[in-house]
Amino acid sequence: MAAERLRSVELVQEQLAFDGIPERLVRVTPAKLTTWSSCPRRYRFNYVDRPQPSRGPAMAHTTLGAVLHNALRAYYELPSEQRTAARLRELINRYWKSDGFAGAEQSADYLARALDWLSDYVERDRLRGEPVGVEKWVSATVGTIIVQGRVDRIDERDGELVIVDYKAGRKPPDVDAARNSLPLALYALATQRMLHAPCPQVELHHLRTSEIVTWRHTADSLAEHRQRAERLARESRDAATSIAEGADPDRVFPARPGAQCAGCEFRRHCPEGTRAVPETEPWALLGE
Ligand code: SF4
Repeated sequence: MAAERLRSVELVQEQLAFDGIPERLVRVTPAKLTTWSSCPRRYRFNYVDRPQPSRGPAMAHTTLGAVLHNALRAYYELPSEQRTAARLRELINRYWKSDGFAGAEQSADYLARALDWLSDYVERDRLRGEPVGVEKWVSATVGTIIVQGRVDRIDERDGELVIVDYKAGRKPPDVDAARNSLPLALYALATQRMLHAPCPQVELHHLRTSEIVTWRHTADSLAEHRQRAERLARESRDAATSIAEGADPDRVFPARPGAQCAGCEFRRHCPEGTRAVPETEPWALLGE
């Protein structure tokens, strides 16, 4: 009975837009919208073509990012009294993988770095308080889209919710990255709708340096992100529809070659991307 009620609510949500105008809602993840925005062809390979084209080999920087995220998720899921330096080291070792690294020596070097980075990060993070959600799944209607995805962490500070996103890249992000991040803004909108609490603040936590950049959204800046997301969702939905109706995939999903081609998992299927950026070793994007 409860399941039926839930399904009816979902059906109504899909039929009515936020402003009451009947319109089919588009279900999106921030990752899908970001991929569409940066390269429609990569979007097609990832979300439209079935069977999905084969992916390239594992990249070490992707492996490293996944390990750091997994270790922190497990760490913050522990009761606070069990969050010790020894447990953190145990978790990093448990989740460690060497996929994409140049060999055992480089993998061991980065494992040692990861232990230092996260030890420093959690020590500094201790004062920020208890997370209220770790890898929290959010799903909420935001305007004409249903935003779904997993937030790295949701904190609560001074009666407000804060969206935390971990970054593991070579360089710390700057404040523009937090301000302009579509995923962070959409997660803030979805979180405040789901948890019925204000969520204006978004943060990027750089795990290699423990640096944090913060941005406080206003209602207007969140509305701008929402409108951009609605436009991207419409464009990507229309493109997928037209390809199903026989449109030329290369026209509807054009390649957008650029720096991102170096780390694109589908570059082997993309002549434009292959020409634009020379092939790199799987560990080339690890940094110093
Ligand atoms: S290689 Fe570059 S242009 Fe080609 S699909 Fe990937 S990101 Fe897009």
